[in-house]
Amino acid sequence: MEDYLAPVSGARHIHLTTSGAEMAFLVAFPTVPDASDGRAHILEHLALCGSQRYPVRDPFFAMLRRSTATFMNAFTYADRTVYPFVSTDTNDFFNLLDVYLDAAFFPKLDYLNFLQEGWRYTLTDGALGYQGVVFNEMKGAFADPGHALYKGLTSTILSGTTYEVDSGGDPLAIPELTHQMLKDFHASHYHPSQAIFMTAGPMPAADVQARISERVLARQTDVSKRRIPQLASAFTAPQRNTVRIPSQQGRDNEFGLQITWLMNESAIPKVAFEANLLSAGLLGDAAAPLMHAMETAGYGRPSGFNGHDDSARQMLFHVGMEGLTEAQVPLAEAHIWATLERVAEEGVPHATLQAALRDLKYSQRNTRSGGMPNVLERLLIALPVAMREGDVVTAFDSDAILQEMERDIADPAYFKSLVRHLLTSPGRLVSSIVPDAGYFSDRNALETARLAQVSATLTDADRARIAADTAALEAHQQTPFDTQALPRIRPGDVSAEPRTLPAIAPAVDDAHAFSIASNGISSASIVYDVSGMPAADWPWLALYTQLRDDLGIEGRDYADAGAWRQRMVPSFSFELQPFQMPDGALRIDLAVSASGLREEHANIASVLTAYIARPRFDEHVRLRYLLERKVENTLDGLAQAGNQYASMAVSAPLAPVRRFQDAIAGPTSLPFNAQLKALSATPEGLAQVAAELARIHAAILARRPSILCAGSGEDGHELARLLAAAFPAPVDTADASAAVRAPVPAAPLPLANVALHAAGQVNHCAIAWAVPMMHDADAGALSVAAELITNQVLHTALREAGGAYGGNAGYASDSGVFSMASYRDPRLAATYRDFDMALDTILATEYSDEQLEEAIIGVIKKLDKPEAPWDAVRLGWRMHRRGTDLATRQRFRHSVLACTQEQVKAVVLTYLKNGNASRAAFAGNTTQDLAGLEVLDLSVAAGA
Ligand SMILES: [Zn+2]
Repeated sequence: MEDYLAPVSGARHIHLTTSGAEMAFLVAFPTVPDASDGRAHILEHLALCGSQRYPVRDPFFAMLRRSTATFMNAFTYADRTVYPFVSTDTNDFFNLLDVYLDAAFFPKLDYLNFLQEGWRYTLTDGALGYQGVVFNEMKGAFADPGHALYKGLTSTILSGTTYEVDSGGDPLAIPELTHQMLKDFHASHYHPSQAIFMTAGPMPAADVQARISERVLARQTDVSKRRIPQLASAFTAPQRNTVRIPSQQGRDNEFGLQITWLMNESAIPKVAFEANLLSAGLLGDAAAPLMHAMETAGYGRPSGFNGHDDSARQMLFHVGMEGLTEAQVPLAEAHIWATLERVAEEGVPHATLQAALRDLKYSQRNTRSGGMPNVLERLLIALPVAMREGDVVTAFDSDAILQEMERDIADPAYFKSLVRHLLTSPGRLVSSIVPDAGYFSDRNALETARLAQVSATLTDADRARIAADTAALEAHQQTPFDTQALPRIRPGDVSAEPRTLPAIAPAVDDAHAFSIASNGISSASIVYDVSGMPAADWPWLALYTQLRDDLGIEGRDYADAGAWRQRMVPSFSFELQPFQMPDGALRIDLAVSASGLREEHANIASVLTAYIARPRFDEHVRLRYLLERKVENTLDGLAQAGNQYASMAVSAPLAPVRRFQDAIAGPTSLPFNAQLKALSATPEGLAQVAAELARIHAAILARRPSILCAGSGEDGHELARLLAAAFPAPVDTADASAAVRAPVPAAPLPLANVALHAAGQVNHCAIAWAVPMMHDADAGALSVAAELITNQVLHTALREAGGAYGGNAGYASDSGVFSMASYRDPRLAATYRDFDMALDTILATEYSDEQLEEAIIGVIKKLDKPEAPWDAVRLGWRMHRRGTDLATRQRFRHSVLACTQEQVKAVVLTYLKNGNASRAAFAGNTTQDLAGLEVLDLSVAAGA
């Protein structure tokens, strides 16, 4: 790692040399707003809407389809704004660097873009309203009860700092922001003396610096003292507050209790590691004392917020319970407190703390990451440390401090003293959480009242100005812009051949081993083909998969088993992997997986063997708790999951694999939730659930599993040998062959026409058609059609004009579903009209070669997204299982690269325009025009 400071401006550049192909860049600014008007967030959106060198309407979205970047985005955090991208191509990397630097330092911040992305008034038949992308994005974010809860905590414990306000923007406060305030915020916050540049990859740091100097430092000479977020003032005594959170029904068991501690600065390595250790020791597994105490209290459950939290300059530590009645709130507080006092006396086992340090080591070596390239994730973890003037070297490599911690935990008094400190610190806030069924209607009423107030004072001139702004914005959105100034990658620049994936050859014992660049981490999956299970068993199979790692195994109760497993391996999971064959047949795999350091092979084998061969289902008290938790979490999350529910409901009738997903996690699964609620209420019901789980288990074990292993060098092969010995074929081979027998195909479902309802402030709309899968000659044109519809029609109609946060079309080649969807959408009926319009527009418009090529690059980019080595093995396995061979992938890629406009129009006409559409939306209210959709109340379906 190298750390540079530019001499005059004070701009900082941190470069990490890595050997992989990926090149990551980010530029970050401290953004410390003092109001909840969303200025930092709206600025992030506006910076991407055109700049001096690239004065087009939205270079960011244009580059999404002109670049082969594997990641492009921008993020607004509570105290910083970050613009990152990753590419594997040197030309593309420097192209994007130019676009990003110009966007951040020299954005146009055009007034019309402010109206589009931030907020604006609308006049509909004389009635005043609000519109805007961020405005609606944040209305969607407010659907999450956790959002209100978190703001309720931080606004008090971090009062007087930037963390007190909502950096994303509160839709009730966003209309207080003016265009001029936004420009001032940019001028004061975005210049080189504030910037931190970070890069990782094989390219020389000097090349990046030369470009930054030329494009930015030579032109932007403002210097100001680097901003750093304020520190909250220390509490002299603990405080209390009450936080109201949105609730669908205002049920009497939706109260909660949260205790939040204010700790030392999160950029100090020791502070971060000790907070980590506290989380692991108190809450890390089912036997950890605080977790165990909360799960076995006999009421409520641990809240979703527990553990350390480094999102602010000062570390926070959260402990709390949810699902309480009002009377249980003080009981929960006393219970948590008594447990902490006991742990301060007794401590926790040394092995627990050792496992916590092993997990830290594992996460540093791990090359897999959640949803973004690993190189970028490493930068993003170190970034807040750099911005808060902490020790960046340790943020990248913590071996030394891990060794120090090893010595610390050897003394039993050490952990006790950390807990004792929690008990004695005055820096804590105790919050009572109160469910508020009127949360959204109150916010709607406030918004309506403000609009009425403004409306009453509007002069004719004001109304004329609003109308003129609206007309100017519409004209701006309809103006085709010249993208010539923007660099681009063309179809001829990308490889004509698909990337190679690990090949799966027949193997002895069906055990497959791979040598991968895993950085000393070994992984294994034991995969059972459970396709033969009847559809009536699917919800039970899903429940089995969800509960197994929270239940016990022979000889160990669930808590003991959880603690043992945590000591043995850092990563363990049960996972269902459904997929669809080219002939439409459904296949379902159940994978039980574990990963660990290469020195832990024996542990991996022990854990997999114990959990697969020796489950127990007789812990009925535990079972009741887990069922109640599942039922309540589903009920709490109805509005938040509205988008997934709509997407599952719309596609379930179109493809067997989607039908399976809907049956286990979509609206169709909600009656099962209600059934579980009833069963968990009686001993007989619990016995019945236990019996069903045991029956599912026996059916799984009758199959012969496949074994997948991977690791550095010979490690994967060694692990495969261990596991092949542990998982011999079942004796009854007749039953094993039944596993591959396809289930009887279910009768087709009628197309959906449904408005799924839970209380919220936005909608999510979806429409979908059954189309051929990847093996078909039309698959390439369908995939290009989805990109073209998104780029040329939906982005403008649904987002820019309609105000939805997202709008896009998609083709799923593995299930044969083509869909269009909006996300966090203020409209519903008008969006469905736009879906129809999109097809007509595509059929009637002559697109340029450039527009078609952008759509092609959009498809290729998704195909070429790099996978971490173990994920590539698993992807290769799934391709093998569903019969997608290299020849199929080649045919598909070639047809994408050679796709013509005539082919796109032909598939749009045949399958979409002349096809039968399925329609499903999530509707935040049912008083709007529902476009003929039939209402289904999600709360009722789920048995609230
Ligand atoms: Zn946003």
